[in-house]
Amino acid sequence: MARYGCPGCGYVYDEAVGAPREGFPAGTSWQQIPDEWCCPDCAVREKFDFQPMGVNS
Ligand SMILES: [Zn+2]
Repeated sequence: MARYGCPGCGYVYDEAVGAPREGFPAGTSWQQIPDEWCCPDCAVREKFDFQPMGVNS
């Protein structure tokens, strides 16, 4: 499971945790997130802007 960070506000999407309030349950892979998805914290950055932050084992 990998993690991806928003460069604007520091929000981190962790595949192992998902984003339940966004409708993505734990285990939702980054590939399953819609391309038009925006950062839930700042609503400014889009999926495209997120930076890979490494992989959890
Ligand atoms: Zn953000």
